[in-house]
Amino acid sequence: MPNSGKLRLLYVISLPHSGSTILAHHLSLLHPLVNLGEAGYAVERLSTSRSAALPCACGRSVEECEFWSRMRDGLPRCIGPSSEDAYARLIPEFRSVFGNQAILVDTNKTSEPLRYLSSRPDCEVFVVHLIRDVRGACVSEALRKKLKHPARAEWFTATQAAFQWIRKNHAIASMLHGLPLAGCRRIGYEALCQRPQAVLENLGAWIGASPKPGWQENHALIGNQLKFSGGDRGIVYDARWQSSRAFYPAFLLFPFLPWLNHRWVYS
Ligand SMILES: [Zn+2]
Repeated sequence: MPNSGKLRLLYVISLPHSGSTILAHHLSLLHPLVNLGEAGYAVERLSTSRSAALPCACGRSVEECEFWSRMRDGLPRCIGPSSEDAYARLIPEFRSVFGNQAILVDTNKTSEPLRYLSSRPDCEVFVVHLIRDVRGACVSEALRKKLKHPARAEWFTATQAAFQWIRKNHAIASMLHGLPLAGCRRIGYEALCQRPQAVLENLGAWIGASPKPGWQENHALIGNQLKFSGGDRGIVYDARWQSSRAFYPAFLLFPFLPWLNHRWVYS
């Protein structure tokens, strides 16, 4: 891929628990990708007084990590609510530490920073919209909620989750459609788990990245990314939905759901 002089940024957008942690970990093994996890939110966290001890996925603390220690040193005590300010500080620091060829991987769960990032003339923004099979998403949510609310029916939580899956993924797709992006792809969590090598090779070819011995740049601070920091774990598919019927009522209530699920996740 020709170097335009712009920072290439790979933004992974998804609903929570859709596999973005796993995807970002594996992307960090491709050269020249550098995973910063939920980057904008991480910068906001750095402005708190206790952030020096936060663990980074590279195995060091914030004050020891080459990147986050420099970010933290240059931050005022409180960044404020604007994620634009966070990214405006992060981008030049990223280029300074990792060089102009490095590609920033961001797994921020919110879509809002994309408007700002895609409007920056010094950035080329590629987006991966990661979507999990609605049946897996519903059952996973129902099982999580059951731990907090044992009396609540699984089918009820699963149906609520199905509605949110439709509403939020549709909002993401609509928003992406109107942005000046360098590229945009939809990837199913199922394909990532079942054919990880093919999916990662495809993504790498698309953005101009490939495996390189010894390369791993994972500096995620936020979320559950840290549990992947120990090495190249395999991708294990969460198949609990296959032994559950909790998603059945959602398919009755939203008859178009099987079609939408197939279109978004499997085609
Ligand atoms: Zn680090």
